[in-house]
Amino acid sequence: MAMSTPSSIHPPTRTLTEFIGPVSRSARMRSIARDIALRLLSVRSQSDQNSIRFPFYHHIFEDEQKGFTRQLKEMLNFGDFIGLDNAVAILEEDLPIDGRYFCITFDDGLASCAWSAAPILSEMQIPAAFYVISNFVDCSLPPGDPIARTVFGFKGRKTALDFMSWKQVRELAESGFTIGSHTADHICLADLDDEAAGNQISKSKTDIEKNTDQQCIHFCPPYGIPGKHFDLKRETATVKDLGFASLVCGVRGPNKTGANPFSIKRDHLLANWGQHQLRYFLGLD
Ligand SMILES: [Zn+2]
Repeated sequence: MAMSTPSSIHPPTRTLTEFIGPVSRSARMRSIARDIALRLLSVRSQSDQNSIRFPFYHHIFEDEQKGFTRQLKEMLNFGDFIGLDNAVAILEEDLPIDGRYFCITFDDGLASCAWSAAPILSEMQIPAAFYVISNFVDCSLPPGDPIARTVFGFKGRKTALDFMSWKQVRELAESGFTIGSHTADHICLADLDDEAAGNQISKSKTDIEKNTDQQCIHFCPPYGIPGKHFDLKRETATVKDLGFASLVCGVRGPNKTGANPFSIKRDHLLANWGQHQLRYFLGLD
């Protein structure tokens, strides 16, 4: 369960540099080697024209804004942006996907996305969806809180992990952004029985709708790998029963004509990745 801490106790984390702390030499070398490998691979990546790609991010800190803007501009060189409702409608209606489209989403409802990503998206008139964890909204995990590591996998951080407030979530919804559910507590649904897994989904939907005055019809299971982190068949039945229109995964790849709106593939990105990494992971050529 999320423990709420008044944010006045510690300053919010505004930059990636603070957030990740010092980077070791070996980590830097691994990153350089990876970049070189991707430079070579990006030349040979598969063309995925006529598809919808769902790039997704977790955080956009202030020192990632430049990289994020650059990536959005790069995507615009290859296709058009589309909102989640429209993307899902295309899949639902089995409409032919003629062209390359990008649908931007964010997981976990971290405050940096409201501060640093939303203004850029608004300025560029790009639609996006934010999957929030209802019990973590209005929370800030203090530096060193084990939940940051055990639940969110952020290793060795010395800074706070700040989530959006309900006020921010409501403002995003009112600005036309989509708010989706990422469960109530960000628990691996595969570890839960049918009733507990269902409650994680229904409680978050109810809380999001109450706080935004808008319907919440898009679901994103934590950790994202079907068969490992959640039961695709069971969770699909639950979300359909509850009136959701889509379920997105953490499996990479393009969604082509006829793709299932209840197992949408997405591509995880980091805003500081360069052009070669972006092109490789989004299959741009
Ligand atoms: Zn998550």
